Amino acid sequence: MTEAPRESAERSERSLNFIEQIVEDDLASGKHGGRVHTRFPPEPNGYLHIGHAKSICLNFGLADKYGGQTNLRFDDTNPVTEDTEYVESIKADVRWLGFEWENEFYASDYFDQLYEFAEKLIREGLAYVDDSTSEEIAAQKGTPTEPGQESPYRSRTVEENLDLFRRMKAGEFPDGAKVLRARIDMASPNMHFRDPIIYRIKHAHHHRTGDKWCIYPMYDFAHGQSDAIEEITHSLCTLEFIPHRPLYDWFIDKLAIFPSRQYEFARLNLTYTVMSKRKLLQLVNEGHVNGWDDPRMPTISGLRRRGYTPSSVREFCDRIGVAKRENLIDVGLLEFCIREELNKTASRVMAVLDDKPLKVVLTNYPEDKREVLRIENNPEDQSAGEREVPFSREVWIEREDFMENPPKKYFRLFPGGIVRLKGAYIIKCDEVVKNEAGEVTELRCTYIPESRSGSDTSGINVKGTIHWVSVADAVEAEVRLYDRLLTVEDPSAEEGDFKEFINPASLLKVRGLVEPSLRSSVSEKPIQFMRKGYFCIDPDSTAERLVFNRTVTLKDSWAKETKKA
Ligand code: ATP
Ligand code: MG
Repeated sequence: MTEAPRESAERSERSLNFIEQIVEDDLASGKHGGRVHTRFPPEPNGYLHIGHAKSICLNFGLADKYGGQTNLRFDDTNPVTEDTEYVESIKADVRWLGFEWENEFYASDYFDQLYEFAEKLIREGLAYVDDSTSEEIAAQKGTPTEPGQESPYRSRTVEENLDLFRRMKAGEFPDGAKVLRARIDMASPNMHFRDPIIYRIKHAHHHRTGDKWCIYPMYDFAHGQSDAIEEITHSLCTLEFIPHRPLYDWFIDKLAIFPSRQYEFARLNLTYTVMSKRKLLQLVNEGHVNGWDDPRMPTISGLRRRGYTPSSVREFCDRIGVAKRENLIDVGLLEFCIREELNKTASRVMAVLDDKPLKVVLTNYPEDKREVLRIENNPEDQSAGEREVPFSREVWIEREDFMENPPKKYFRLFPGGIVRLKGAYIIKCDEVVKNEAGEVTELRCTYIPESRSGSDTSGINVKGTIHWVSVADAVEAEVRLYDRLLTVEDPSAEEGDFKEFINPASLLKVRGLVEPSLRSSVSEKPIQFMRKGYFCIDPDSTAERLVFNRTVTLKDSWAKETKKA
């Protein structure tokens, strides 16, 4: 483990979650010789998402807490959807989250062993080759309340089954011509016990084993056995696998292999997004987003590009905890976690985000005068120091910080009104300049020389402070403002395709005029654009044009809006 998950005093005192309780009971009873060995088993068919982060934090966190180990195992038994691009991204994402695995394994490394297991079942009369079509098999399956029917191929002899299975492996049959099924109980109330398919024929190239195999094991026949081969003590998966557990145990029992045990926890579901890789892949392939790492995606790479930190994601996983019941977590909690952290760590800078900013001309400020103001980087952190911010006769402000006919209690700029330019001077708006279309183009103001921040002797009390950027020094940028990917909280509760609910305003690009201090800081460091939110630099940035992503707003504006509605 490169870095331990946050264990604040407060948190280490929290009560054990139910999985920790199981582990502690097992340790107390001496099961597995006091060993804890978990695994994180992604299928390399997509990029990891925040739901996977929960599973990663849980598996690596348990091993960390109890002095155990965690394997990274690629569950690569489906050659058609898997790819090495995904393998590399998964490794990078797990490491980014701050975890290091004990062993890197691939289920495909076990194909020979799994094949032997299958022959063993055949020899014991516990598996048979079925020539039925998938439709026939489905029709024979029965329903949870009605028993299924036995396949006409169920009583094949061991010799015949062995011969057919070897010929399946040798490539004699086309895809779908035959399957290998476990011979269990077609009347079992558990549908997974009704002679589940354990091998199918697929003449497909595998990203690791190439063309060696044309039969591939099914999930249920690969997963538990892989756990057993690696001597995993606690195999954690999500609740949908509860009905698979008896089958998991059945294979382990019949094959007499290491007794790994499966435990299930609630998967993470998050509001206003989708989390299945299949759906995320659709978003990518159909161009609804710009790739897996689009900052609107709930993928780890998307969150990273959005400006999330590993510690904020771990903090989130810690706060949501581990439950036995499905629930839907408010994405606001994820945003809260990053906001809290960035409040402490982000440098404050000024940026005017406006496609049509307003120019303020300080008529009593000498034309050739330049000042360099020193403004503190983070009021929450004295050690963050100060930076230099140039000030001159002309500054940009945002159009929304001025109103020609303001309502009562408007504390920003209006004709005759005063406001403080953050870190600089108090100014008074004397004159509004408009173009022929009647649009305000410029504000002519006077500044109060004695009101300079830090040495203000003016005695004037101003209610409003606005941010600004010196016209002569402003650096052009593109600023990307993100909002929820979907317009509905829970797309699974809605009728119709989830893509109908894509938020058309999920990405807004605006022009930014930023402080020159940012020109040199094309770095990983998080920043706060004062009054605007927390931002990070996007890899699309070039020397000529900086691109910023808004990680999160300063406050939870969404909660306010939904309350209003
Ligand atoms: P998806 O449905 O998104 O494709 P998956 O379960 O098929 O997910 P895998 O790559 O098989 O994805 O998952 C690897 C591990 O991550 C599994 O142990 C799985 O239980 C866990 N996992 C996947 N999604 C979530 C989630 N939303 N919350 C918690 N754990 C998850
Ligand atoms: Mg899966």
